Amino acid sequence: MSDVDVPESHPRYESLLTRHRIEEGVEKGITSQQGLIAQGRGEAFDYLLGEQTIDSADAAERVAAAHLLLADHPVLSINGNVAALVPGEIVELAEATDAELEVNLFNRTEERIRAIAEHLREHGAQTVKGFAADERIPGLDHERAKVDADGIYDADVVVVPLEDGDRAEALGEMNKTEIVIDLNPLSRSAQVASVPIVDNVIRAVPNMTAHARQLRDCNHEQLRAIVDDFDADVALAAAEREIRGGDIE
Ligand code: ATP
Repeated sequence: MSDVDVPESHPRYESLLTRHRIEEGVEKGITSQQGLIAQGRGEAFDYLLGEQTIDSADAAERVAAAHLLLADHPVLSINGNVAALVPGEIVELAEATDAELEVNLFNRTEERIRAIAEHLREHGAQTVKGFAADERIPGLDHERAKVDADGIYDADVVVVPLEDGDRAEALGEMNKTEIVIDLNPLSRSAQVASVPIVDNVIRAVPNMTAHARQLRDCNHEQLRAIVDDFDADVALAAAEREIRGGDIE
């Protein structure tokens, strides 16, 4: 038994633990109420995927790692769900790829940004951006648009897990390479991404780190070849096929 009182033999053990982490995130002021709804949506898709990383997602995670290693200025965008679910894992990914971490919230409050930054520091983060908020993503209204001028605004590659569709679209229009992690292959965020990863953030982030470590010694041409070989539409179609036609055990 864990502190959540779920026996490990329970068929939904992992899923219930994940849900509990989101609940804790809300209690700590890290995750928003909307984050609970997002989690519920994600769970439904994950259930249909068999709660596993499908081959096309693993391939996309490797491509994402290659993009991060090739980038001049990679930034990982952190929201309340990511901070609650994978705080240590996202810090490791940042370290493995020399990326920066920036807290970027849909429902932005200074208090929540501080709570998330503190939580990330407790999990090993050195520097956390998102406080300056001195630039705007063009085409979005006020609060949602705020980013750091020397963070997401300046980045050439951004990882945006569980991003809102509008903001994903607006970021895409800034000519950045946008890596989206979203369990719904039909969400606008996944559809506008340069690299859509249809996988649970809990599995996707550590797997991206593992790929980054494996690719670390590749040269520029080898990384470019991995990146150029990727087709986002093919990856999305593979995920949708899996969800619509998969066998649920
Ligand atoms: P859009 O505006 O892009 O169409 P949406 O309105 O469905 O998206 P939200 O509800 O804001 O978006 O975001 C939730 C999204 O994040 C959903 O697509 C959901 O499947 C996904 N999601 C939730 N939890 C996870 C998770 N743990 N890992 C990956 N994706 C997740």
